[in-house]
Amino acid sequence: MRTKLMLLVSLIFCLIHAQTPDATAEAENGVRSGGVTIASSIAGYSGTGYVTNFQNSSDKITVSMTVANKGFYKLMIRYYSENKEQDLFVNGNGPSKVVFSATSVFTEVDAGKYLLNAGTNTFTIQSNWGWIQIDKFSLYATTKNSYNITPNLINPNATTATKALYAFLVSNFNVKIISGQTDDWYDKIKPIAGKTSMLRAFDFQHYTQGYSYLWDNSIRGFKFGAEDNGQTQKAIDWYNQSGKKGIVNFQWHWHSPTGGTVGTNTFYTNSTTFDVTKAVTSGTTENTKILQDIDAIAFQLKRLQTADVPVLWRPLHEAGGTWFWWGAKGPVACKQLYQILYDRMTNYHGLNNLIWVWSTPETDWYPGNAAVDIVGNDSYPGEYNYDPQKSAFDRLYQLIGGTKLIAMSENGPIPNPDDCLTYDAPWAYFMSWSDLVTVQNSNQHIIDVFNNALVLTLESPTDVNELSADPNAAYKVFPNIVRDIINIEGKSYSRVELINSKGLLVFSSKNSSSKINIQNTPNGMYLLKIYNNDQSYQQKLIVSK
Ligand code: CA
Repeated sequence: MRTKLMLLVSLIFCLIHAQTPDATAEAENGVRSGGVTIASSIAGYSGTGYVTNFQNSSDKITVSMTVANKGFYKLMIRYYSENKEQDLFVNGNGPSKVVFSATSVFTEVDAGKYLLNAGTNTFTIQSNWGWIQIDKFSLYATTKNSYNITPNLINPNATTATKALYAFLVSNFNVKIISGQTDDWYDKIKPIAGKTSMLRAFDFQHYTQGYSYLWDNSIRGFKFGAEDNGQTQKAIDWYNQSGKKGIVNFQWHWHSPTGGTVGTNTFYTNSTTFDVTKAVTSGTTENTKILQDIDAIAFQLKRLQTADVPVLWRPLHEAGGTWFWWGAKGPVACKQLYQILYDRMTNYHGLNNLIWVWSTPETDWYPGNAAVDIVGNDSYPGEYNYDPQKSAFDRLYQLIGGTKLIAMSENGPIPNPDDCLTYDAPWAYFMSWSDLVTVQNSNQHIIDVFNNALVLTLESPTDVNELSADPNAAYKVFPNIVRDIINIEGKSYSRVELINSKGLLVFSSKNSSSKINIQNTPNGMYLLKIYNNDQSYQQKLIVSK
């Protein structure tokens, strides 16, 4: 008992000790702009008060903090507010959206890890969405995010093509950024940038009976709205025309399974009375209806599987926003619906060509690492804002503990690719939404992004059948998922090493054969190093038996 108590005391001491910040700044001592004021009527603040009265974009507070060394620092912001998003600038760069969850006492939010300069750095909170009290800023020295991306998809029966696509995504993560665009505006990019997006996003909204634009009671005598508007076949054709290099993404604006007003977007909470809590309960009419709809979409996904097309599958997107009916009743029902969807598609329909993408960042909505392959954030920080959105990235990083790929699953402005890698927000891909690509990005920015060496396009010499992301690399290493033999082509070399995700050497050979046998190496993600005299070459590798 006594031992336990001492352990507890020392643990608490360690926790307190570990939380000593490297720098702090009280908001009330900062530089105020616009109409913000200092107040002290809400109890529990730090220092002598807090800054309040944020109403429009001219209202902001800027503090300076000094750190001894250049490096990454975690920024914590103490606040009191309702559920709000505000804009953060770090050393004038940004804005990055920071989500402040509703709280009834002054509390801290982790606003992300930022690369800071030795010396003085500035931090500005600018009003984006109204009412908030900002109390204090704190910095803690940290490191870049580290990753241990799971080498396997959640579905153990995934097809070879699906595993290969996932391996391609994993091998390029934190190295390159894949370009993406919705189908409707897909052809608009090449005339501007001379390049073509590698990822193309399609939508299944026409394929279920709730598609309200085709309802016509007067003619048909019943409500029936499903149609094949060609999206499935278009995806198959495009994938094949791309030499199987393109990446097919499908989302599903799921119209209300039991209807709503004719000719409206009944996937919106405000346009339907459909109750997802009834839908996840066996035996209800709503449950029967959702299974019919899931079956209808599974039929389309099966067409893609038959054509051997792997799909980044992103159902129930933006659930935590609650503006879609699947999110309208909170996280519990939504997660139940996701499990029904996953089970029905995977175990009942045998769909093995899906990579499951979850795109809402809230912790309590997350179905868990066992149910998701990629996490995403839908990013709309305002036109011409090319900031890497570090706060949003780190929020997802915390959600998945560094074990899953992180993507910008939708965006208005495209983040600056160089900044994404420099400031440690290496989104696996971006996916510009419809015409916003030209509304919220300048033509010059589109040109710059698509011609940036860090960005993969359909014109990039790499493809899903090769792991090497560098066309000028001295060595070609294949296959993309290694079972036991690594093939190495190119210049002669003197030594090869395999390093595991913990940085430990697990295999070394001075045999300069073109075939390296690693049959005793366990599954996982590795770094392959090839040495040639004083030179070395390295790339990521996945071992999967
Ligand atoms: Ca304060």
